[in-house]
Amino acid sequence: MKEKCAANCALCPYPEPERICRSETGKAPEGCSTALYPAENESACAALRDDRELMRFAREAALQEKACYAPSPYDGNARQPVKPRIMEIIEFAQRMGYRKLGLAFCLGLRTEARDLCRILLSHGFEIASVCCKVGRVDKSFLGLGAEDKIFPGLEPMCNPIAQAKILNEENCDFVLMLGLCVGHDSLFLKYVEAPVTVVAVKDRLLGHAPLNALYSGYYRFLKKEVDT
Ligand code: SF4
Repeated sequence: MKEKCAANCALCPYPEPERICRSETGKAPEGCSTALYPAENESACAALRDDRELMRFAREAALQEKACYAPSPYDGNARQPVKPRIMEIIEFAQRMGYRKLGLAFCLGLRTEARDLCRILLSHGFEIASVCCKVGRVDKSFLGLGAEDKIFPGLEPMCNPIAQAKILNEENCDFVLMLGLCVGHDSLFLKYVEAPVTVVAVKDRLLGHAPLNALYSGYYRFLKKEVDT
């Protein structure tokens, strides 16, 4: 049996309106996720149909998505974005009737965490916030030595599992992730129980906007020669 090639939406060769995921008469290239995985699509829809609360969550997310656009004043058929992500988060949490929000943040973004917390409080939410160094567990616990630390002496490890467990204990309705490192974010997501959204991801060089590396020619060196 010929092995299926991997799902390959990111390298889809067709313009967006001509894709099968956008139009009934659209085209499906090799590696098309819509064509290769009808059963998974059906079971995803079944998961929503079978769970009223999950369906409500998905429905409100779709409504919030729409609320983030307005008709363009220049072209009635076009839409323009009108809300920053923080506003989108606030409105979505309000739609869902969430009262208590959790905030898991990186110590390096403590100023942003404080400012975000103040904004959320001003919108009437209760906030539980936990920084990544919570618990002050030295990196030696991970089997790391002085040469593996950024600074000499006691250096607390990031503790994303503790962040998750504390926010679970706090019974948060919805959890916001702010600037956790690559890998620490994975552990946090593995252990946290409430639904999570990301406020921002960490990029130490690029102002927490990693996509800037794709927009700037200075980062051409990131790309090796490959056949795509
Ligand atoms: S689902 Fe198919 S048509 Fe749509 S982006 Fe993926 S590969 Fe392209």
